[in-house]
Amino acid sequence: MERVKMMTAREYKEYYESDDFKKQYIYDGNDLGAVCKENGACFKLWSPLARRVTLNLYADGETEECTSVLMERAEKGVWEYESDGYGHGVYYDFTIEFEEEACRCTDPWAKACSCNGIRSMAVDLQKTNPPGWESDKRPEEKTEQIIYEMHIKDFSYDKASGVPEAYRGKYKAFTIEGTTLNGEGKRTTCLDYLKELGVTHVQLMPVYDFGSVEEGGKDTEYNWGYDPQNYNVPEGSYATDPYHGEVRIRELKELVQSLHRQGIGVIMDVVYNHTYSLDSCFTRSAPYYYYRQFEDGRYSDGSDCGNDFACEREMCRKYILESVLYWTEEYHMDGFRFDLMGLLDTDLLNSIRKELDERFGKGKILLYGEPWSADESPMEEGYFPCKKNRIHRMDENIGVFCDNTRDTIKGHVFYEEVPGFVNGGEGLEEKILDAVGAWRNAEEEFPVKAPSQIINYISAHDNLTLWDKLKVTMRPEQPFETRDEKVVRAYKMAAAVCFTCQGRIFFLGGEEGARTKYGDENSYVSSPEINRIDWQRIYEYEDILSYYKGLIAFRKQMSGLTDKSESAYKRVVEKKVVRPGIVRFCLYNNPGDRWENLLICYNSTEKEELLKLPEGSWELLVDGTDSRLWEHPETKTKEVTAAPVSVIILGRK
Ligand code: CA
Repeated sequence: MERVKMMTAREYKEYYESDDFKKQYIYDGNDLGAVCKENGACFKLWSPLARRVTLNLYADGETEECTSVLMERAEKGVWEYESDGYGHGVYYDFTIEFEEEACRCTDPWAKACSCNGIRSMAVDLQKTNPPGWESDKRPEEKTEQIIYEMHIKDFSYDKASGVPEAYRGKYKAFTIEGTTLNGEGKRTTCLDYLKELGVTHVQLMPVYDFGSVEEGGKDTEYNWGYDPQNYNVPEGSYATDPYHGEVRIRELKELVQSLHRQGIGVIMDVVYNHTYSLDSCFTRSAPYYYYRQFEDGRYSDGSDCGNDFACEREMCRKYILESVLYWTEEYHMDGFRFDLMGLLDTDLLNSIRKELDERFGKGKILLYGEPWSADESPMEEGYFPCKKNRIHRMDENIGVFCDNTRDTIKGHVFYEEVPGFVNGGEGLEEKILDAVGAWRNAEEEFPVKAPSQIINYISAHDNLTLWDKLKVTMRPEQPFETRDEKVVRAYKMAAAVCFTCQGRIFFLGGEEGARTKYGDENSYVSSPEINRIDWQRIYEYEDILSYYKGLIAFRKQMSGLTDKSESAYKRVVEKKVVRPGIVRFCLYNNPGDRWENLLICYNSTEKEELLKLPEGSWELLVDGTDSRLWEHPETKTKEVTAAPVSVIILGRK
């Protein structure tokens, strides 16, 4: 062990990658952390280079007084202590002694923790189950997945949400039925609202424990939470009590249970690409091991957040896989959205996909992510980043956020003034038709296998909201919050285009109600007033809300749009650029559907377009202002007019 104290960063890297290290220290048990038994718990920590490890046990999360016991060195770099007496509810940390230095450290494998994650807590998970948890069921698979992105605090921070004050901004807000705008009793908010909207999944922005918010702090504290601290513990600031480790666990389970009761699945946003700080329990328990390094030993920073998780290393892969399985099994999560998935490798994601398929059925748990990184990261040789150009190496049930669709519809996200197809962009006709077929056979550098790999979206938490982007490109002279009919038309058109592309549908919560952040394009640490869902505004834009609801309900019935198979692109036929700014195409639904053929036209020009109809009797199903015409459709023959800046959809039996 002499070499330990002498090791440089570069030597650490070489050592961790040596066969010698792998043979001696790669642990394949799945019992790390604190596992509660009847009368105590078994504590296990992986710290291969430690000379001595002490377990410190505390009665609560605050007191300094503790009982310290020496852990025993077990196999493969694991330290173990089996306690008779200290079990559920005991708080703990470790003192780890290396050759020359010592440190205090929480448990990387912790499943519960104290306020702000300062200490870990042993938890008997059975004791955290809300009543009825045993009978909680995942919603049945639907014909389409419509994913709604929501931040816990944004959802109910607004007083107008009608949520009781004690639950505003908390997990608990997702469990209250019957809330209405200002409590007036008519227009629904929160849980009931989601059900009416028709979304099939809610994607929660980070709910694992993150480091940037003071958990015992004021309600005005705010962060998106892309700064993981305890990967396997829920964030405490959303719990009604952050001081007792079991409360946040129970309340997050209640949230899942409540959404499941409404038939809505829950997707977790996971950030396995970096941690809040390099000075983490990972570094302290195994210096340099968990973070990616350049050849010379320096830490890489492809996340732009100070570090990258070294997912190529065996114990990191094991960690990520076990973590995903844990959230799926213990919290009944229905899917995962991987932040900066381009920092993780295709083999890792494929192996997660495979494990989930074996346990829960093929493709049942959704997996998708951002196919990019913030910066370059030196992935080890033989591994391929989960980026767009490697999508063919990814399982057909691993999806990517499709920036092609997004930017083609509304314009580039980084260049705010650049418009897309619906707001004055030129030369985008071919591209918008590629979007319709989920980019299959469209671009060499984006070898998409099937629409199951495509997440279509026009806004997410990052960058300007759709409303703000259209305002900047179309009405820069106006304040962000004011209504403008030209913008409203383009808005509805953007939604209708997105909803008529093959792939899955994702949108930022509140997009359906003209959500504005007043031009704030990176609101991760802005005030909750900027970030909150403004429930009053949602109903001021009830026409947009109703347009979205109609599109959601319509899409679910169109087999030509919801087909996720490799041959789905063959359903899109007769793609045609009519003239600059106008395209049309036909789409086959299944034989026997209410309409076997659809004819869709996108008119982004300022002029009406007279559309010649092919033979037969066509029904007008959707136009630029009404997405529910299909409920009582009017028959059209020969021709139909597409209003300026609008999408029209016709169906033939
Ligand atoms: Ca936290």
